[in-house]
Amino acid sequence: KVNIAWFRRDLRLTDNAALYHALKSSRPVVPIFVFDTNILNELPAADKRITFIYDVLEEMQEQLKALGSSLEVYHGTPEEVFTALLKKYDIGHVFTNHDYEQYAIDRDEAIGILLKQHGAALHTYKDQVIFERNEVVKDDGTPYTVFTPYSRKWKSALTPFYLSSYPAKKYYDNFYQQKAYALPTLKSMGFERVDIDFPGKQVKSALIEHYKDTRDFPGIKGTSHLGIHLRFGTISIRQLARKAQEKSEVFLNELIWRDFYHMILAQFAHVRAGESFRQDYDRIPWRNNEKEFEKWCAGQTGYPIVDAGMRELNTTGFMHNRVRMITASFLTKHLLIDWRWGEAYFAEKLLDYDYAANNGGWQWAAGCGCDAAPYFRVFSPARQTEKFDKELTYIKKWVPELEGFEYPAPMVVHEDARKRALATYGKVLKKG
Ligand code: FAD
Repeated sequence: KVNIAWFRRDLRLTDNAALYHALKSSRPVVPIFVFDTNILNELPAADKRITFIYDVLEEMQEQLKALGSSLEVYHGTPEEVFTALLKKYDIGHVFTNHDYEQYAIDRDEAIGILLKQHGAALHTYKDQVIFERNEVVKDDGTPYTVFTPYSRKWKSALTPFYLSSYPAKKYYDNFYQQKAYALPTLKSMGFERVDIDFPGKQVKSALIEHYKDTRDFPGIKGTSHLGIHLRFGTISIRQLARKAQEKSEVFLNELIWRDFYHMILAQFAHVRAGESFRQDYDRIPWRNNEKEFEKWCAGQTGYPIVDAGMRELNTTGFMHNRVRMITASFLTKHLLIDWRWGEAYFAEKLLDYDYAANNGGWQWAAGCGCDAAPYFRVFSPARQTEKFDKELTYIKKWVPELEGFEYPAPMVVHEDARKRALATYGKVLKKG
């Protein structure tokens, strides 16, 4: 009999909860990854994240090869892959880490049933976050919906135990010994390699130490750009949180926001289903003008800070957090377009796209999320620029034509749009 370690958003061989538990068990461990066609079929051929995953898997394969083992990489639905694996191996247990999205919950339930029918079992572990689901709740056991008290409780619950690494390395001898397989090619899966420099995963201490003073200015590299690594688990959250605890409370706070949104997702089925956290907001009569949406997507709104953000996103797959807030506010308030349109666009483009954080960020900006800005607070692009890109460093980088004549006039007048947003939101929410 063998055991299986199933990698998903935890693409690393060190400090990995499920892998550690798999290797500690007494059977040889076959490591696998599935290019899940249920997910892949929705993506464009030039999706940058597929190249990222592919490169990481190749690195993992090199490491496993050196250990006399092989990562088995499959292309298909998880059901198809496990059906084939059950024929290939006499499987005892499958070890994998929790994933809090609805699709993943349904998938894991189906695989659990399939395995059980064959006398095998699925075991799942917390790995992606420090505290999950109901580990940090109010004294009465109900979930927090406001960040500050959640973060206070989070910090008071934190003991070294939660930040300690899983020493998987000790058990590397237990990997199933076989010749290393070649990965299926990107082309065979319908994808093409994208030529892009992905952010590195080295965590610079100086950056974290200065984070509180630099993080709000998109014109400088003042944030870590670790989002993609946290998303795909190429770094361990425990290791990063230890560093944050040592170096910067403000940085640690951002990691707590990450836990917070994962907790919200796990606790509230209606959020997993794509509804507004505050359901009365689903009565807002969005204008949803497609032409206007296209201008926003393309970075042609005539508001330089909004356009700079969208162009950064379209080109690099990254957008600075401050600018994510400004562009999201512009779409939902100035243009009165349903936040889900923006959410979906970000989901397609962001390298660090993560359902929990993206949904949380969009609902925050639209005003309908937990602990969101009140609806009557409408960001002024001009004020935001004045505060956070005073020298126009960021704007000039992405909107160089600003100084010429080709730049479009503002697609809406700020003050008119603000009044329209207040009237539209107000009509629905004041009654509520
Ligand atoms: P840093 O500032 O260096 O922060 C370190 C890490 O902390 C991030 O990588 C991220 O994992 C976490 N983090 C920081 N801020 C937040 C936050 N507000 N909420 C949750 N986690 C946070 N973050 C994503 O990871 N994926 C998304 O799809 C995503 N979509 C967003 C959409 C909108 C509309 C908004 C307003 C925010 C979104 N964020 C998202 C949160 C935040 O903007 C990004 O995490 C951050 O900009 C990533 O850059 P960084 O890695 O340099 O972050």
